[in-house]
Amino acid sequence: MIQCDCLIIGSGPAGLGAAFSLLEQKPQLKIILLESLPISCGGLRNDCKMNFTFPVGFPLEYWTKQSAKPYLERIENFLNPHILQKDNLEKYTRRSEKIGVQLLNIRQSHLGTDGGIRLIKELTSKLTEMGVELSFGETLLSANEKEHRAITDKREIQYKHLIVAPGRHGFDFLRKFMEQLNIQYKDNSIDVGIRLETKKEHYPIVEDYYDPKFLFPERTRTFCTNSGSAHVVQEKYTSSKGETYYSVNGHAFSNAKEPNGLVNFAVLRSVSFTEPIASGQDYAEYLGALAMHTGGGNPIMQRIGDFRMRIRSTRESLNQDLYDFEPTLKSATPGDIALAMPSKFLDSIWRALKKLDTIIPGLLHPSTIMYYPEIKLYANKPVFKDDYFMSAEDIYLIGDGAGTSRGITGAWASGMRAADGILRKIDV
Ligand SMILES: Cc1cc2nc3c(=O)[nH]c(=O)nc-3n(C[C@H](O)[C@H](O)[C@H](O)COP(=O)(O)OP(=O)(O)OC[C@H]3O[C@@H](n4cnc5c(N)ncnc54)[C@H](O)[C@@H]3O)c2cc1C
Repeated sequence: MIQCDCLIIGSGPAGLGAAFSLLEQKPQLKIILLESLPISCGGLRNDCKMNFTFPVGFPLEYWTKQSAKPYLERIENFLNPHILQKDNLEKYTRRSEKIGVQLLNIRQSHLGTDGGIRLIKELTSKLTEMGVELSFGETLLSANEKEHRAITDKREIQYKHLIVAPGRHGFDFLRKFMEQLNIQYKDNSIDVGIRLETKKEHYPIVEDYYDPKFLFPERTRTFCTNSGSAHVVQEKYTSSKGETYYSVNGHAFSNAKEPNGLVNFAVLRSVSFTEPIASGQDYAEYLGALAMHTGGGNPIMQRIGDFRMRIRSTRESLNQDLYDFEPTLKSATPGDIALAMPSKFLDSIWRALKKLDTIIPGLLHPSTIMYYPEIKLYANKPVFKDDYFMSAEDIYLIGDGAGTSRGITGAWASGMRAADGILRKIDV
């Protein structure tokens, strides 16, 4: 059976951060990195904007400003990103504070989807040069904790340390993996929201601040703003019951692509369930299924003008009069979001949007489109045995799938932190 010092599952930023961090300090380690897809997926491949300021991407239950700081500095040194300039921040901050909204001042970079793919290629070839065995198209199925043996769809691998970083798409896999290893986990919080798409002239702040992070009351916030050549997309998810649902998302290409004059961003509301709801994932999947039912198998889109009048959008109304730009997610069904979104989420988000329209007047133009659902499942939170995300003997669970991060830099930092835990053991 093939043997290695460290087996890493997932080639997203968490897995990559772990691999580079281990090799930086112990270049002789034998590392195998498995990825079930033919190429690395996740945020590095989609839009690839990176946030280098705490707390963006760092869940507060696992990170403090102090614990995240050295990792953020190391990531910035390693990736050497181009940090975007911000202008007129004081004006937006003043307007926000007057109405009880916080605008975070975040160090950001943006590579775009094309730039992200280039970065992935650079990083993976660097790892190969450093002696890592990269195996794309290979999936971890299970592990034997006592025997330190991993079972994939192709072979068995003897490891000394196992890092599992399967991302959001590996949510269901991780749940089963933890159940198989008797790792306790909590899965009680979710983010549900909408994605707005509008003309750049209705949200001109993006000229001054690429991805402005506004925090509103009721745990509601803006998230993942894209402009330039910006597109709304849908991601396919399969529920634990085998049903398909789509969640919308957004991305933009780098400056090399022709701008399309549009901006998109999400407004999300977080909810943590107490009894009797045990699983945020199950709840979110019901919402996803309801949205698919209402939208005839696709996400729903509604113009603000229709939403205000409490009427559904229709294919015809989408092209009339004031409604003067084409939606980029053409497969979305014009309809009525209020039929599918619980008022707990919808009311908070609408209140937040009215505040945002006060800070940046014009956002709620009748032509602005709301897409639903945008669902973030971050909630598979394992019980950890130490500060380095070890959940079972020499098994570390990290990244967005395990809830230790909510973005590229947080995921990368989670990988580095797990690597630090392993290096401490090796050094003893
Ligand atoms: C469309 C989109 C746009 C985004 N844009 C941004 C952005 O601009 N900025 C930002 O900070 N964040 C963004 N994100 C979020 C970002 O992708 C995540 O925060 C980040 O990628 C999480 O890193 P990760 O390593 O935990 O997981 P991932 O990046 O998801 O990587 C996990 C990898 O593990 C693989 N895998 C899963 N299960 C197995 C298995 N059993 N065996 C082998 N391999 C497996 C998956 O195929 C995947 O490649 C975006 C996400 C999406 C979906």
